[in-house]
Order: sequence, then structure tokens, then C-alpha cells
Amino acid sequence: MSTVFGQSTVLGYPRIGANRELKKAVEAYWAGTIDAEALADTAAGLRAQVWRTLRDARLDAIPSNTFSYYDQMLDTAVAVGAVPARFARLGLSALDTYFAMARGVDAEPALELTKWFDTNYHYLVPEIAPDTVFTANPAKALDEYAEARDLGVTTRPVFVGPATFLLLAKGVDPFARLDDLVQTYARILAALAHAGVGWVQLDEPAYAGDRSPAEIDALRRTYTRLGDLTHRPRIFVATYFGDLGDALPALLDTPVDAVGLDLVAGAGNLHRLAAAGPLGGKTIVAGLVDGRNVWRTDLRAAVAAGATVTGLADHVAVSSSCSLLHVPVDLSAETHLDPRLSERLAFARQKVDEIVVLGRALRDGTTALPAPLPATPAGWRHDDVRGRLAALRPADRQRGDYPTRAARQQERLGLPELPTTTIGSFPQTAELRRARAAHRAGSLDDAGYASRMRAEVQQVVRLQEQLGLDVLVHGEPERNDMVQYFGEQLDGFAATRHGWVQSYGSRCVRPPIIYGDVSRKAPMTVEWSTYAQSLTSKPVKGMLTGPVTILAWSFVRTDQPLADTADQVALALRDECRDLESAGIRVIQVDEPALRETLPLRRADQKTYLDWAVAAFRLATSGVADDTQIHTHLCYSEFGEVIGAIDALDADVTSIEASRSKMEVLDNLAAIGYGRGVGPGVWDIHSPRVPSRDEVIEALRRAVAAVPARRLWVNPDCGLKTRGYPEVEASLRHLVAAAAEVRGS
Ligand code: GLN
Ligand code: ZN
Repeated sequence: MSTVFGQSTVLGYPRIGANRELKKAVEAYWAGTIDAEALADTAAGLRAQVWRTLRDARLDAIPSNTFSYYDQMLDTAVAVGAVPARFARLGLSALDTYFAMARGVDAEPALELTKWFDTNYHYLVPEIAPDTVFTANPAKALDEYAEARDLGVTTRPVFVGPATFLLLAKGVDPFARLDDLVQTYARILAALAHAGVGWVQLDEPAYAGDRSPAEIDALRRTYTRLGDLTHRPRIFVATYFGDLGDALPALLDTPVDAVGLDLVAGAGNLHRLAAAGPLGGKTIVAGLVDGRNVWRTDLRAAVAAGATVTGLADHVAVSSSCSLLHVPVDLSAETHLDPRLSERLAFARQKVDEIVVLGRALRDGTTALPAPLPATPAGWRHDDVRGRLAALRPADRQRGDYPTRAARQQERLGLPELPTTTIGSFPQTAELRRARAAHRAGSLDDAGYASRMRAEVQQVVRLQEQLGLDVLVHGEPERNDMVQYFGEQLDGFAATRHGWVQSYGSRCVRPPIIYGDVSRKAPMTVEWSTYAQSLTSKPVKGMLTGPVTILAWSFVRTDQPLADTADQVALALRDECRDLESAGIRVIQVDEPALRETLPLRRADQKTYLDWAVAAFRLATSGVADDTQIHTHLCYSEFGEVIGAIDALDADVTSIEASRSKMEVLDNLAAIGYGRGVGPGVWDIHSPRVPSRDEVIEALRRAVAAVPARRLWVNPDCGLKTRGYPEVEASLRHLVAAAAEVRGS
């Protein structure tokens, strides 16, 4: 049994495969075209590949149980027996029960899916009832451990730690079950020890956020108990995504063997560590290589930070700041990139090499490290953009007063009370996706593709007219993704070909990389919007993605404040808004579904973020005349800390998810005195279910009770791109009829 942690490690590694093999296999299994055995074979192949890669790179502490068919929180739920009765009783195989929890089946909706901290990864929320009986099911971890051992690789099984698991769970006070759950972890640890496992990793990222003294106490109690066990592997508690604050001394106080600290997102951890006093022989695992972004590490700076840790702890290992799950697999697949860009990048595979080099440098102190490349090649700077930014005045982020705007807009638009609209996208049919694939492959030329998309826009406009909607959309058929689409057209952005990152389950995204000053080469959406507008006398909404969301779903540059990058994007969008306006578009929607997602985990950091986020949105949207109506769309209903910011966006109309929370959000908005237009979603588009006309009427009546009808809009919760036409037509018909009914009463 190994007692030494090692010099270099990663907290996790992408599991989807370099070519999204896991996505393809899992979806084939769901579709019934491969069986469970074939799926298991693909999975084993992918795991073996990762272990060999890490071993061949000479990483000397290698994790296992980081593979997942869907999500690591779901895996941990299964490992502790937290399978809700509603799934257990379906009588499915273990694998199908697992997928039923992840995706739902006819009779049972899935576990709730939600964002993993401030990342764009989503986890499944465990449901913990007061009568949930925890049981130890270490089989998956043991199997993976044995599998790796058979390949000659000794690994460290990884689990989500008990405190974080419960802090992220839902139910009646799940955290109250901690002591209970810790007993189950103790049994898992005993089983691991019995199988010869030397080290286990328990992830506690929840402590990078604000935690109460009681929660910090619970962390101390948990790891004191687990640490005091006589029959256990050595315990490595990994933390990431920020500063631990008071949780760090608490954790150091426990008899665990290693503690991992994010020194990229949590620079304050270093000071805390220095202040903590003797570390009692603990290994400190220094997260020096950014697991959230794609830039090469400044190795000299990292080694200096590492040396500080070496001065404090007897044993230090180097690692990624968090799991490498959040970055693409391998830069070497991106052969088309500008070499000046690729020489500055590191994806998961390259980060492993950096970690190994850093581990050696810290041990030997002699390894010569390359100097970092100069930050930004001259060609990536745009002095005109910088000049515009420097010349900005507060007035550039301020529209006229709302009552005047509202009156002018109404004069120009002549909308009925309770106007009906949609959020932007219409179904992305298989045919559309095929056309896009053919275009990408070169078998459909630009002209053919454009005419195919125009035909789609025409159909979508015609359908909306038939349905009797008041404010129309063009349907977004030309967009692959709401951020990638703009990234492909803006200067300063690079697109990867294979840079996929898991977003949830089998869904992967390919975030663009913002590497230089952002500017707009040409109008991006005007042609589509004006074409749609030419087909109808009803207003067609221009459709843009907001600066905060564009940043949130891209890899951002780190050589300037995010606020500056946001303003650069905002200026490009401001020009686009103006061009849309001059082309006769009267309503423009700027989506900000990610505003909440990138909210800093600690309250103390939130105001700064919200200030620049709001300022960037206002810069993007304040260049238009009073009679141009600005909409925004947000994808959630629990505003919490961001509610004030939503008001501060100063959009004329805000559409939001509300159907699942039964319009509660309207009360929240009323409570802060929000007084502009609002479109609470009256149809939950997350399921194919068609809401009846009466249900929509009921939702609308509830809304009218909370908001004056003249400020209320009628729309679905979100875009319709994942839905099918039959349910979209039926639902929108009910939505329009319900609006007419409530209007008349
Ligand atoms: N306009 C986008 C759409 O309708 C908004 C998507 C989103 O909110 N995520 O698809
Ligand atoms: Zn949405």
C-alpha cells in the first residue's frame, strides 16, 4: 500500500473520449442500437486510454472512478444507495435505473439537473428524504480500481465527499443526514482498504463558497471521523473553485492525509495556509494548473507559488486546480489554429505535461523552465476598439426614461394587451441539422445552405402568423449554438474543431476561445432578421446573445479584466443593435441566460461581477432610440442574488422561466419594485407535454394578479429548438387562445 501521495496528479480527466466516443455509445444504447455489453466495452476502452495516457505522461498519482456514464454526483448517489424509491420501484436493471434517474422515463421525471457551481457543467441533484436508507455500494469504484491495476496502473478512487454531496442535494434538510451518511462512507472506505486501495479522493468543492460556521464544523466532524477510522485508505480531501476561507483551518485540523487547494481560482488559500501553523505531516496538493481555462500555465510563476507551499508543508504535490473535465481533451487535434494561438494553449493532455514538469521542478529545484510567451501578439490588439472603450461615458450605458420609452414603443408597435411571443428558436429538425452538416462537409454550398435556411424562416414566420402571435421571431435555424454562432463571426474569437467539453450527460459543447480584442467584421444577424421582417407586417424580434453569456460560454482571455472583454463584446453587439434598428427592426432581444451562472460563489465577490455584467449589457443595448424595444431573456426563475441586477439591466421587457415555479418570480420582481414589461413563461418547454388552454389561462390569471396586464407578456419558458413541431403548434395555439381569453375578461 502506497503511503506517499506522489509528485503530480490531476483531480479528474475528461471522460467523453477524444472524439466524443462516450456520447456516441451512450446515445446508441439509449436508441437501442447497441446493447449494455457493447456500451460497457466502449467505456472500458475509454478508461484504459485515460489511464495509459496519464501513466505514459509520467503522472505519478492517477485517479480512477472519474469515469461516468452521465454524472459524478449521480454516481456518488448510487454509491451511497441514494436511489429514490420512485426509480427503484421501476424494476429496471442497475444501468437502466441509473439512466432513468438521469433522463426520466415515461412514468417518472428525471432528477433535477442544475449547474455545477459556477461552471457550465450540470449535475443531477440527489433527492434525500428523511427515510432515505444509505447503503455502501463501492462496486463501481472497486471495479475501476481493479481494471486499472490489471493494466499496471495504481489509482486513487474519487468520490464526491459527503458534505458537498448533501449540501447539493434536495429534500427536507438533507444536511441533517450527514452523520448518517458518513457511516456509509466509512463502510465504502473499509471496502476500498480491503481491496488494497492506498489512497481515496473525496471532493468538497462546496466549501469554496460561503458556508455557515455550523457547516464548517460539520466538515471538521466528518473528516475527523473518517480520519480516525482504523481500516481505511489514506484520505485526500480535494477542494476547488475558490478560497476555502475558514474551512481551510478546519480541514487542516482533521487527521486526513492530504488536502487539495485551488491556487488558481483561490489565491487566498496560500495566505490561509501560511497562517495555519504546522500541517502535521499532511500532503498539500497544490492546484497550480488551471482546470477551467485553456491557456498554458506560466510555469515560472506556478513554481514560485509551489515553492511557497513547499516551505509550509513536508510533502507537496502539483495538480490541476480542479478536474480537467472542464477543458477539451487534446490540443494536438487542432491543426488548423493560428500557430501563435496554439503555442499559447494547453488542453487536458497538455496540462498533464505541465503538471509533471512542475512536480519535478518543485522536487529538484533545478529544472529549467521556459519563460512565458509575451502576453498578446500585436496583431491581436485593435486600437480602434481600445479607443472606443477608453472614450465611453456613463451616458453610453443609459437609455431615456422608461415611461417615455414605453409610450413611444407602444405608439410604434401598437400591440394588444398581453402580447404573445416566443423566445426565439423554433424546432431544429433533423433536416435542418442535416443541412448544417452537409454545409460543413462542403456538399451543400453557401448559396444552397442560405436558401434552405430562408425557406425555414419563411415557414416559421408563416406558422406564427397563422397561430396569431403578436411579436414574431425568425426561428434561429441558422444557429448551431447561441454563443458559437457569434464567436464564429467576431474578430478575436477562435473556434476549435474537436474542443468538446461535457455539459451534461451526453451533451457536449465546443466553447470558442476569446484570444484577442473583440470586434465585429460585419453585421451578424441583420440579413436574417430583415428577411423575416420582409415577410410580415407584424414586428419581428432581432435576436442576439448578450455579452455576459458570450463570455460565460467561451474560454476567456486572462490578460485583461473580464469586464473589459465584456465591454468589447458589448460594443460589437451595440453596433449590431443599431444596424438592426436602421434596417427597420423594432424589437431586439438580447439573451442573458448565463447571468446567474457565472455569479461568484462568495457573496463578497458578487457585487463587482454584477456591476460589470449589468454595465456591459447596458452598453450593448443603450445605443438604440427610445422607440426600439429591448427584450432580454433569462433561463431560470430563482433569481436570488441577481434579482436587483435584472432590474438594473433596464430592458423594456424581461422574459423568464416561471411555469415550474408557478409564477413565484413575479412576486419577487414586484418586491423589488420592478416596473417594466415581463414575460413569465406559461409553458414548460423542458418536456414535450402540451399545456392545455385552461392551464395557460390559469397561469395567466395568476400572473395578472401579480402584475398589471399592461406590463405582462405571454410566452413560453425558453426557446423551442429542442421541441418537435406537433407539440409546438398545439402549445402555441393554446397559448394564443388563452391570452385572448384573459384579455377579454
Ligand atoms: N433565443 C434563444 C432560443 O430561443 C434563447 C436560448 C436560451 O435561453 N438558452 O433558443
Ligand atoms: Zn431560456
